[in-house]
Amino acid sequence: MTEISEYKDVWVFTEIKDHERVDECALEILGKGREIADQLNESLVAIVLALDAEQYIPVIKEHGVDKIVYMSHVELKHYHEQIFTHLVFNLVENHKPSVFLFPSTEAGDALAARVAYRCRTGLVSDVLDIEINEESGLNLRNTEAFKPAYGGNINVKIITKTRPQMCTITRGTFQKQKSKKKDVEVEKVDYAYDTSNIKVKIVGTPTRKDKPSSKLSDAKFVIGGGHGLSSKENFDKLFELAKLTNGQVGGTRRPIIDGWMPEHLQIGISGEAISSELYIGFGISGAIQHVVGISDSKTIIAINKDPNARIFDAADYCVIGDANEILNGLLDYFTV
Ligand SMILES: Cc1cc2nc3c(=O)[nH]c(=O)nc-3n(C[C@H](O)[C@H](O)[C@H](O)COP(=O)(O)OP(=O)(O)OC[C@H]3O[C@@H](n4cnc5c(N)ncnc54)[C@H](O)[C@@H]3O)c2cc1C
Repeated sequence: MTEISEYKDVWVFTEIKDHERVDECALEILGKGREIADQLNESLVAIVLALDAEQYIPVIKEHGVDKIVYMSHVELKHYHEQIFTHLVFNLVENHKPSVFLFPSTEAGDALAARVAYRCRTGLVSDVLDIEINEESGLNLRNTEAFKPAYGGNINVKIITKTRPQMCTITRGTFQKQKSKKKDVEVEKVDYAYDTSNIKVKIVGTPTRKDKPSSKLSDAKFVIGGGHGLSSKENFDKLFELAKLTNGQVGGTRRPIIDGWMPEHLQIGISGEAISSELYIGFGISGAIQHVVGISDSKTIIAINKDPNARIFDAADYCVIGDANEILNGLLDYFTV
């Protein structure tokens, strides 16, 4: 059995999206990974599996990594549960990283869970922060991952005592840190997977036109709606306002449950994270799962009839009032 002290280095699953770009969330995680690696005096390693993976190396090098380990193969063009799990698990077995961080994307979440199971180690999902437990001794310093629990009412600290210590992280939780190390080591690992084992065959993948035309995460002005708008009819007015103001609509999980808004517009820990210039939230309570997704916006205006609403803790401007009245007023103002 491998001693815990034999595990070292901080790994980040540096996901490639749509076989054309490095996932933004993975780049953000590299920023945090650099911080952790420095504290542990270990290396930061980006793990890349893609078709023509070499093309992403220059971008990844700009984000403070010490090393890039990559595999390049046509079978890695799209995420495949079986292939990626097998290959990444083998990398873990061979190199024994101490910490392994994944972007909380569809592929990242699925892969992290499968690899953690195979490694018989813990996995903390959607963490808000990661610190190093300084008391555990130099060779056995554990990470402490913080995540919301009980509907966001408390943050819990989770210490993983097995290795690797694995976490998934939502976009917007950490900041990208651009810095270039002088001698970044690049290691190509040969692709080796027996395709006769494949049980799931990918017969098609969504094309760009299947996706929303513009991404919430890139929007400059986001209009957020919550359950406080009280009906679909009222909620639809957000889309009218967005049209008039060149904004984009997003919202909490509640309007999705209510059937007022499609799922891809959810903002928060299990949706998109935004970093808009301006965010206006209408009738939103301010649950941590939502606030995590808006906290990188430059200016936050919240409208809620309850003066004690938690959203006001995150807001730059707090408007205590009826969200529907204010929404109607804004529509009148911009329609004229
Ligand atoms: C594992 C997990 C993941 C989750 N992920 C997400 C996520 O990614 N994103 C997300 O948003 N949520 C998420 N949630 C749900 C989250 O916990 C909250 O339940 C949700 O954000 C609440 O939505 P809301 O604020 O719209 O509704 P509510 O909590 O019902 O709040 C409505 C607010 O509107 C106010 N209000 C009522 N009427 C008016 C009015 N006329 N004018 C002004 N204000 C009014 C009320 O005072 C209240 O504050 C998650 C939950 C779990 C358990």
